Amino acid sequence: MDDVIRCERCGRKLRSSPTMEFGLGKVCYEKNRLELVKAEYERNQQILEFEVDGIQRGKGTCLESAI
Ligand SMILES: [Zn+2]
Repeated sequence: MDDVIRCERCGRKLRSSPTMEFGLGKVCYEKNRLELVKAEYERNQQILEFEVDGIQRGKGTCLESAI
């Protein structure tokens, strides 16, 4: 039984790390998290621009986070 989990990013073997469930080592998890935050930020910027554009055109815009 091969239960070795490897980091998806650098391929290192992961042993007891709380980030194992994400398939990443601690360092790579942190890197990934920062990238995700950055990507999310950039995505939100795009959505914001899209929404403003939609409002300006008077069209209904699908708001992802609308409750
Ligand atoms: Zn890694």
